[in-house]
Amino acid sequence: MQRPVFAANWKMNHGPTEAREFMTSFLRYYPRHSDRQVLFFPASITLAAVVDALKERTDIRVGVQNIHWEDKGAFTGEISAAMARDAGAHLALVGHSERRHVFGETDAETGRKVAACFRAHIVPMLCVGEKLAEREAGETESVVLRQLRAGLADISAEQVAHLLIAYEPVWAIGTGKTATPEDASRVHQVLRAELRALAPDKYSAIPILYGGSVNRANATQLVIAPEVDGVLVGGASLDAEGWAAIVRA
Ligand code: PEP
Repeated sequence: MQRPVFAANWKMNHGPTEAREFMTSFLRYYPRHSDRQVLFFPASITLAAVVDALKERTDIRVGVQNIHWEDKGAFTGEISAAMARDAGAHLALVGHSERRHVFGETDAETGRKVAACFRAHIVPMLCVGEKLAEREAGETESVVLRQLRAGLADISAEQVAHLLIAYEPVWAIGTGKTATPEDASRVHQVLRAELRALAPDKYSAIPILYGGSVNRANATQLVIAPEVDGVLVGGASLDAEGWAAIVRA
C-alpha cells in the first residue's frame, strides 16, 4: 500500500494572518511522519504565508485551488499554473465540484487545466463526482468516467501516471453526508480500472482520494478502505487541532 494522502482544501477561508496562526498550532500537533503525505490547498492570496510557514517542513506540500488553462494573458482575476509554481505551489486542484457547479467549469476546461499544470510542472489533483440526482438515476459510474476521461484527454499516458485523483460525490461535500467506505471503494475501483487502460504500467500508483464530509469520526475507516489512498477534506481541515488529529490517526 502507498503512503496515504491527507489533503486540506480551505476553500475561501483563512487569510494570511489566520493561516500563520493555524500553522503555528498545527505544526506543534503534527511532527514529521514519513508514512503519510500531508497537503494544503489554501486560497491563492494565502499561499505565500503558508509556503513561508512550512519552509522548514518540506514533508508537507502546498497547492492552489484553481488555475486558468492559459499560461498568461488578459484574464483579469485569474492565476496561471506557472505563477502558482513560482509562488511555491507544487499542486493544483482541478475540477473541484464548486468550480464545476458554482462557477460552471466544463469537462473540457478541466482537461485544459490539467494540461496547463503539466506545462508548468505542477501536479494536478483532478476532482470528479456525481450529483445526487445522477446517483439516484444510477449514473455515478458514467459521470465519474466521463469527467475522468475529459480531465485526462489532453495529456500523455506518461503524464497520467503523475497526477492525483479525488472522488468527491457532490451530495457529500459540505453536507455532513458521507459515502460509506464500501461505496467509496466501489467507485475508486471503477476509476482505477480506467486508469489502468490509460496508463497500463503505472496505474496502480496513482493516488485516488475520497472527499465529502470527512471528519475525525469517519476519516480512518475511509482511509483504510480498499482502493482509498487518502482523503480530501474541506470543513474539518479548518481547525488546526482537529485537522492534526485526522492526519495523525
Ligand atoms: C472539499 O471541499 O473538497 C470537501 C470535501 O469539503 P467537505 O470536507 O467540507 O465536505
